[in-house]
Amino acid sequence: MKMRAAVLYEQNEPLLVEEIELDPPKAGELLVKMVATGVCHSDAHYYTGDSQRMSDRPVILGHEGAGIVEEVGPGVTIVKPGDHVIMTFLPACGKCKWCHRGEPTLCDLGALIRTGKMLDGTSRHHRASDGADIDNFLFVSSFAEYTVTAEASIVKVPDYLPLERLCLLGCGFTTGYGAVTNAVHIRPGETVTIVGCGGLGLAAIQGARSCDAGKIIAVDIHEEKLDMAKKFGATHTILNRHDVREVTKEIREITWGEGTDYSFEFVGMEQSQETQAIAFKAARKAGTVVLVGAGVQKLKEKTLPISSDELILYRKTIKGVLFGDAQFQIDIPRYVDLFEQGKINLDDMVTKEFTLDDINTCFENVLAGNRVARQVIRF
Ligand SMILES: [Zn+2]
Ligand SMILES: [Zn+2]
Repeated sequence: MKMRAAVLYEQNEPLLVEEIELDPPKAGELLVKMVATGVCHSDAHYYTGDSQRMSDRPVILGHEGAGIVEEVGPGVTIVKPGDHVIMTFLPACGKCKWCHRGEPTLCDLGALIRTGKMLDGTSRHHRASDGADIDNFLFVSSFAEYTVTAEASIVKVPDYLPLERLCLLGCGFTTGYGAVTNAVHIRPGETVTIVGCGGLGLAAIQGARSCDAGKIIAVDIHEEKLDMAKKFGATHTILNRHDVREVTKEIREITWGEGTDYSFEFVGMEQSQETQAIAFKAARKAGTVVLVGAGVQKLKEKTLPISSDELILYRKTIKGVLFGDAQFQIDIPRYVDLFEQGKINLDDMVTKEFTLDDINTCFENVLAGNRVARQVIRF
């Protein structure tokens, strides 16, 4: 079938919205008519080249998608045409050792997400003009009117809730909220530092509130993001003027000189030397530091910016967390229920809605850093 999609040909060049030929789903795959997709900072990292793909073929980005199943390939059992689904940026086969351990974020299929091909090694997306293969992105490719995705990459959701909000559960919300509510056990009144207040950080603040955390200290380089953090429940905000020592001092002042019980880092990339250092310093003695912001592969320095003496003598713990340590088929329906009951706020996380033709504006906004929490494209 023919449909329109936004294609990235060259890094840092505008995406082209053009006609794509989409093959029907093969075994274990399904065709989804997209209803909405979030625009995540990770899309921008592939756009700028901060994150590397495994091929240099053109690609259809987008990985926070939600839509309606049009057609299922052979062997697909968990959904049927007409079902509403959201797509997860990591697949889970349900069969490997890690899936059986209840750790689908470590599923063996994760090794294939950057190949640009489907699980069988072939492409479903082709340029309409000459039939050339176009890569998929994380088996999702949601910047498109339709996509073919894997059964391993979807979660069924109720058909009466807005997909233009539930789409955030496919990456950003689950990553932030899960890091706080799944990866550690925060007791009521315990204190938390959140470094980085974009979509992940705002979801993390909601997670901290749902655990009845005491002080929730938000740190960001943009005043606008700190204003959003306050709206979502941060009790204290600190503007990071690229001074780790100063930010640490302020966190200590807020916490009677101790530091917080937990600290979370949601930035990664070039800034990670600074933001990880803040998260490490923020944690109290025997506190836990959770690192979520990834993508340091381009940096020359791949070492953590921490003192090993401080780690040992203060008995701190550092923990890496991927996709909120979520068990997709259990946690995402749980978040859907919480959304329906008004206990999590996805509405205010969406700063603005766009159409597919606005995709380049969306990227400009993400890269500006201070304009938006999350943008959603509606089809
Ligand atoms: Zn994402
Ligand atoms: Zn698996």
